[in-house]
Amino acid sequence: MTVDQRPIEIDDALWEELIEITDGKAAPCFQCGVCTAACPWGLVRGDPLSVRSIMRGAQLGFLEAQEAIWLCTACGQCEIYCPREVPIVDVFQGLRQLLWERRKTPAGLTTVLWSVYWNNNPLSQPPSQRMGWAEGLDLQAYDSSKHEILMYFGCTASYDSRAQSVARAIVQLLRAADVSFGTLGEEEPCCGEAVLRLGHSPYFQDVAQHATDIFEKIKVGKLVTVSPHCFDVFKNHYPHINESFKPIHYTEYIAGLIEGNRLILEGSLSSKITYHDPCLLGRVNESTHYPRVILETVPDARVIEMPQSGPDTLCCGGGGGRMWMETPPGERFSDLRIQEALDVDADIIATACPLCISCLEDSIGSMGVTKLKVHDIAEIAQMALGEVSKNDPVEE
Ligand code: SF4
Ligand code: SF4
Repeated sequence: MTVDQRPIEIDDALWEELIEITDGKAAPCFQCGVCTAACPWGLVRGDPLSVRSIMRGAQLGFLEAQEAIWLCTACGQCEIYCPREVPIVDVFQGLRQLLWERRKTPAGLTTVLWSVYWNNNPLSQPPSQRMGWAEGLDLQAYDSSKHEILMYFGCTASYDSRAQSVARAIVQLLRAADVSFGTLGEEEPCCGEAVLRLGHSPYFQDVAQHATDIFEKIKVGKLVTVSPHCFDVFKNHYPHINESFKPIHYTEYIAGLIEGNRLILEGSLSSKITYHDPCLLGRVNESTHYPRVILETVPDARVIEMPQSGPDTLCCGGGGGRMWMETPPGERFSDLRIQEALDVDADIIATACPLCISCLEDSIGSMGVTKLKVHDIAEIAQMALGEVSKNDPVEE
């Protein structure tokens, strides 16, 4: 046996800091390696993400493989299988926080944080354009005394031209069901999910407090999100706002409207549809039922499952702040996902997350796939509205 003789830099303070930052959550790790085997990076890299080694390095007080710490997509797959229930995503975020404190973050990530600070969005877009997508829709300012829900569109659906189509589809569905809803317009606060996932916990606390102050001021009750990322961060990472604050992902809300006969989908859509569960919906928040309720209600649509579905979904690769980092061709999980959809002979791969749409459509483009389309579930439901949807088709 040969021994690796490369010197390592021991950081005596690291473990204590890590214990403090992660509240001791990494301590139970006993190095079984199940997490490394479960991690999807092993599907696309000859040199997989060794989650086990990262945990061990932190236990011993050194931060080796710093590049690897930025690979985690926060997909949660490893946590499902970890026999010691180590909250691995939290540990990665803690390690990222230590790298921020040591000024060892990848170039470019500071731009994301500064954009949240200056622009109220991580996309470096002007705050004055936040509602540009809604021109002509005559959206109302939220009033808790008269609106059933606050519709929270989020930064990606507000600024990304592809995701804006999803926002418009949701507005049309709510109107078709006669739901009274309001928005915060240009005052809508960034939820801070990008900040949280990139590991800058102190700044995330500031962003969350700012948003909390706004929600409390307007006495928000039901808040419906477009993105599972906003939904997850409000539900699981915000300090308790008040007892009536209830974040809901739009798939749950729309499914409720269908089940309550407020929304009728009667337009035929003769397609084979397979559903890609976003990690933060299908796995982390165990919401696999509502998206399928919507799809199975669409007349003439045939819903088929891919091998990796529900809580065992395959990550698209866009979470955990990875949207702000380059992933080289050949290492994109979404390529594998598109191949899975092709293998089950789907016409449409549906999803319910703006970041999944972006990753899946990038893969469709780079793989030269023409027979498969990516649609958000809201767009599919909009198409199935019948006559109404024919007047306002989904943008391709
Ligand atoms: S699966 Fe859990 S216990 Fe096993 S190496 Fe990974 S973190 Fe440690
Ligand atoms: S959360 Fe996902 S990407 Fe991150 S280490 Fe676990 S399995 Fe890998």
